[in-house]
Amino acid sequence: MLGRIHSVESCGTVDGPGLRFIVFLQGCVLRCAYCHNPDTWKLNGGIEKSVEELLEEAKGYLPYMKFSNGGVTLSGGEPLLQPDFVLEFFRKCKEAGIHTTLDTSGSVKPGNLEEILEVTDLVLLDIKHIKEEKHKQITGMSNNNTLNFAKLLNDKGIPVWIRHVLVPGLSNDKQDLTDLGAFLATLSNVEKVEILPYHKMGEYKWEQLGLTNTLIGVKPPKQEEVDEAYRLLTKKQETCQECGL
Ligand code: SF4
Repeated sequence: MLGRIHSVESCGTVDGPGLRFIVFLQGCVLRCAYCHNPDTWKLNGGIEKSVEELLEEAKGYLPYMKFSNGGVTLSGGEPLLQPDFVLEFFRKCKEAGIHTTLDTSGSVKPGNLEEILEVTDLVLLDIKHIKEEKHKQITGMSNNNTLNFAKLLNDKGIPVWIRHVLVPGLSNDKQDLTDLGAFLATLSNVEKVEILPYHKMGEYKWEQLGLTNTLIGVKPPKQEEVDEAYRLLTKKQETCQECGL
């Protein structure tokens, strides 16, 4: 089984617990205005690698994974655009006793999703926006699949780390953050909430690829705005009256 791979990071420390072998898969259906990896978008980009080849590479780091309670993470791009590859790679990782993490926006729903989840230990779920219209404005697509995916993970009891990219003017409205917090409070499988502050490090890629960057004048949020967003997302609420969730 071959997958289209953008890149590999051998000892990642932020995309899941412990030290991780991270595979960034090529291809994404979203077009996030703040994407710092637009070079992962094209489905036919990257290079082909087999499950076996990647697994052998990953196994080279097994002592570090075991020592740190780490494992492997499939990220992207959007890994669920290559669902057969994800399934086979995770199955082989589980056979080798390796912890598996899926880093996804939940925006696509492959036919083998249930099988993939059977061999997934943790999901890093990126919720771009709780409001459908604003989600479309940021990514070009509805958030329906993402929110349904979050509910499915909750029903299955699969641990989740929620991620939210905080972009001034796009995803930092206090009421929206409160509503997202209310949605998260309906889930019982959320182990962690992470606010990812918007940054400018990928801007040069937009320029290189000839893409129109609509966030040129937008500055990263201040630390107090990040702290406030975290507070609003983690404030426990029973229900959200306004969003009805
Ligand atoms: S989901 Fe990730 S890779 Fe895809 S456009 Fe958004 S930020 Fe970029």
